[in-house]
Amino acid sequence: MQNIANRGLLRLLKFFCALFLLGNFFLFPGCKDHENKKEAAADHLVDPEINAAFADTETQATTPEEFNANSFDFPVGKPDAKGYYNAQAFGKNNHLGDDWNAVTGGNSDLGHPIYAIANGKVAVADDLEGGWGKVVRIVHTLPDGEEIESIYAHCDSIMVLEGDRVRKGFQIGTIGTAGGQYLAHLHLEIRDSIHMPIGGGYSEVQEGYLDPSLFIKNNRSIH
Ligand SMILES: [Zn+2]
Repeated sequence: MQNIANRGLLRLLKFFCALFLLGNFFLFPGCKDHENKKEAAADHLVDPEINAAFADTETQATTPEEFNANSFDFPVGKPDAKGYYNAQAFGKNNHLGDDWNAVTGGNSDLGHPIYAIANGKVAVADDLEGGWGKVVRIVHTLPDGEEIESIYAHCDSIMVLEGDRVRKGFQIGTIGTAGGQYLAHLHLEIRDSIHMPIGGGYSEVQEGYLDPSLFIKNNRSIH
């Protein structure tokens, strides 16, 4: 009796599984992951206008001009890094970025907002673990068409998803410790060679890397 009942239950379960899979196939033919991601991205964005503005331009080959990066701000204490200082500047100890800390010291900046330094598109929003922790990489198209990349590392939390378009000053995450490895700070890199491997954060070879603070200072407004 027990066996027969189980078999019947199993058959019923199989039937519903098949129905579920078939339903999914017809609802999202061939792009279920993409649909899921879009939905998640929509939920994730604080400013729904951003996704709305790009809903119908997403498939175009070129970046919409209004999302070009025509000005840059600092990633903390926006727009001028008020209340923060650069604890390890680009080039010091072969550092390939800047380390932003609150002037209040220690872990007082843990959980503080990190902002996109310019309009752009999120290329990576992922926990890379190791010495990097949670990392956001944003590609910016300059008015002359050149593309550069900004990288925000050791985040406590990430508030964007890959493919999201962000405006300058949009909060993309919070300052963290890379899982307790460091005192909370933001490691910021700017690269003029985009999509390179994440690297090691330090190197004598600076090819492909820009001095982030110098670049931001020189590009507060691009004409
Ligand atoms: Zn650093």
